Amino acid sequence: MRRTGDLKLMQQLNRSIILNTIRESGPISRSQVAQKIRVSPTTVTSAVGELLEQSLVKEVGSGSSNGGRRPVMLAFNPESRFVISVVIDSLELSIGKVNLAIDVKKKVHHAIPNDGRFLELLVEKLQLFIDEEEDLKDCEGISVIVQGIVDSEQGIIQHNNRLDLYDLPLRDILEERFSIKCYVENDTNGLLLAEKYLGKLQGDSDLLYVAIGDGVGASFFTNGALTRGANGGAGEFGHTSVNANGLPCKCGNRGCIENYISWRAIEARLKEDLAKEKLVYSSQDSVKPEVFCERLRKGEPVAAAIYKDVLEYSTVGIVNLVNIYNPSFVHLGGSLPYLLPEFVKELSEKVKQRSLSSLSNNLVIQGASFGPDAGIKGAATVLLHDFFEFSL
Ligand SMILES: [Zn+2]
Repeated sequence: MRRTGDLKLMQQLNRSIILNTIRESGPISRSQVAQKIRVSPTTVTSAVGELLEQSLVKEVGSGSSNGGRRPVMLAFNPESRFVISVVIDSLELSIGKVNLAIDVKKKVHHAIPNDGRFLELLVEKLQLFIDEEEDLKDCEGISVIVQGIVDSEQGIIQHNNRLDLYDLPLRDILEERFSIKCYVENDTNGLLLAEKYLGKLQGDSDLLYVAIGDGVGASFFTNGALTRGANGGAGEFGHTSVNANGLPCKCGNRGCIENYISWRAIEARLKEDLAKEKLVYSSQDSVKPEVFCERLRKGEPVAAAIYKDVLEYSTVGIVNLVNIYNPSFVHLGGSLPYLLPEFVKELSEKVKQRSLSSLSNNLVIQGASFGPDAGIKGAATVLLHDFFEFSL
């Protein structure tokens, strides 16, 4: 909504643009900022005064001059604030402390037991994490990403069938408990925002993020914004069917891609196929993706057969997404693309061969920019997107 004439709003907007300019182009002088964004030097001086007071920028010495006084250079100060990032996976809760440059300063991981007491666990572990912080005055907030359908405006987890969370007003619960501003967002939306604002793809407007890991999900960034759908559920890629007569899914449909390519599906099939062959990978109940990838690289037939199917189903699913959304970039995140760069390469070739040629000509498919910290960075980006991108 445009509200011209609102002086306060214009000042806030200018301050935000000036902060972003210093963040992206610093060290930079006040007059260089004014030239770069075409605003008056007085506006820059006033906004910088405020930013210095808030420690969001700092003076870092003098720049060169063409004869006059050497200008004072300004740089962004990412250590001035921090965000508490929370990643809720189906098996693991991760909590991290992240600065304004989205560097992870500290992180902890906790297993999520299947005892229906997830909310208690979250509050208890967050309290422990917060108790270790000496000073919360520089904390910009708690930013949570979680699998499933999320109403991010209201901060409600609408549907997460792995943890049995339905219509949970998580933002209000956490804000009341900790008196800190809180954000809640779908996990792949957070991961996509991190790619968009910090990853390899800054500046591109039509992006697709596909996570192939513990679960399967997708997010779309089209026309400069996240595509959320009428109920906030856009991107439930895991429940798109790739086999009309396939495996029944918890959602009521058949052949949902999640039942073929998620790590949980791969692990279940691996155990079944190993049992048939009277083989074991480990004496433990669960097999780690790393072990599967290692056996695959050694050419083990059981792993190779599963991989072949995962590649085929992933191709079918992503070709459908490319033909629907016509993205310029597809990012593949999650454990499988991270651990197996060759999977990203083979999948990219197959998707390009099988999607419409006019849509795949300039299409780039690549692994996500961030490794194991992707979730913690993604959660922080949700909050910092709001912090830096002051929008009208
Ligand atoms: Zn389903």
